[in-house]
Amino acid sequence: MTSDLASSLWHKTCQEHPSSSALTGEVTADLAVIGGGYTGCAAALKAAELGASVRLVEAECFGHGGSGRNVGLSNAGLWLPPEEINARLGPKAGRRLSQILGEAPDLVYGLIETHGIKCEPVRNGTLHCAHAPAGLKDLQNRAKQLQAIGAPVVLLNQEDARARVGSDAIYGALFDPRAGTIQPLAYARGLARAAIDAGAHLHDQSPATKISRTGDIWQVETPKGLIRAKQLIMATNGYARPMQGYDIPAIVPVHYFQGATAPLSTELRQVLLPGLEGCWDSAMVMSSWRMDQAGRLVIGAMGALDHFGSSIHKDWLSRKLANLFPALTGIEMESLWFGRIAMTREYLPKIQRLQNGYVSFGYSGRGIGPGTVFGLRMAEALITGDESVLPLPVSANHTLPFAGLRGAYYETGATLTHFVSDR
Ligand SMILES: Cc1cc2nc3c(=O)[nH]c(=O)nc-3n(C[C@H](O)[C@H](O)[C@H](O)COP(=O)(O)OP(=O)(O)OC[C@H]3O[C@@H](n4cnc5c(N)ncnc54)[C@H](O)[C@@H]3O)c2cc1C
Repeated sequence: MTSDLASSLWHKTCQEHPSSSALTGEVTADLAVIGGGYTGCAAALKAAELGASVRLVEAECFGHGGSGRNVGLSNAGLWLPPEEINARLGPKAGRRLSQILGEAPDLVYGLIETHGIKCEPVRNGTLHCAHAPAGLKDLQNRAKQLQAIGAPVVLLNQEDARARVGSDAIYGALFDPRAGTIQPLAYARGLARAAIDAGAHLHDQSPATKISRTGDIWQVETPKGLIRAKQLIMATNGYARPMQGYDIPAIVPVHYFQGATAPLSTELRQVLLPGLEGCWDSAMVMSSWRMDQAGRLVIGAMGALDHFGSSIHKDWLSRKLANLFPALTGIEMESLWFGRIAMTREYLPKIQRLQNGYVSFGYSGRGIGPGTVFGLRMAEALITGDESVLPLPVSANHTLPFAGLRGAYYETGATLTHFVSDR
């Protein structure tokens, strides 16, 4: 199996279809954006709303990267708890980032409502589930840190958590009412549509192949076109394709796969996740599960599906499902797909400066809210000239020796864990 977006559930059920065509000929703009996921589309939307002329180029289709393949958990904050964010960024910048990203679900669901994005929004919260009694300790620590910054999270005991999930394999959970689930590809494409409606020009099937500067003007070349722009946002994150004249910032590629069942019966849907919360667990090699609008259970974990060990991941998925939900033992997966998460060494996203531009990357598995926030705010900073709106300080160049080897380490660890666990 390849990392083909068409094999994903999200591709099959997407109800947003922005109309677009490849870039042809030479055009000028205030802002050029490269990459049509959450970051790029949010940036294009904001710049157009601020009255700037915008050209966005996407190599494939909108949402081709992580934005079209993810779990769809629209979380508040990052995967790291607040104290660890503070330790890495410093207390002032850390508190500010946690506060801004704590409000990210308000922003995401607000955009969905404002632009009528058809992306199955459900805002019933998320459950970070203890996979074993030992997992509760981590959740208690997270609850303490999150409550200390005013987050309305609630620690659920084993009985309550099991009732919410519909599984006896859960030992407690941290409930976050700020968060929820979306159809991730439809959200990306809905943002693209909103940007087009606001006056931005978005081009799919238009890979940027060369980036250069003449004087203070950027030139972005595609196979059939050329953009000349004063400002540039590079929003290619973990799916960056090589571009002549541009050094792609290093990330650790971590793969994550998912399977979706056929729609479950009404009886099963009354007991499995009856409240439709999105879930993930406290295991070192984490798993996630959620329902889609039609009642399909979508379950996933770390791992890629394109190598010799892929069958280990698929076998594990069946065992995990049976352990979590015995009523689903032996159920077939209607769709199976995977995607590439862009991690940084500190598990924190980065914004780096380009000359009159920015590149952001490394959302480390939390990009729905953060990608939206970073895209909007990078565009605002460039168009208004007020860099104080950026969600975190611009960082120096991010070096990551042996990034590929680190990625291979995660994949090997996930494969070995899936080989031995849930048997
Ligand atoms: C399997 C998986 C599960 C995840 N689960 C969650 C989750 O539940 N919740 C959450 O918040 N986050 C999750 N994430 C993270 C989230 O999906 C990403 O952080 C987010 O989508 C990043 O958005 P982006 O726009 O920055 O990048 P992307 O969506 O990756 O978009 C980059 C785009 O740039 C394009 N591109 C690359 N090179 C070029 C070029 N040269 N020219 C033109 N275009 C180019 C690519 O084709 C791609 O479409 C998950 C990620 C994965 C992979």
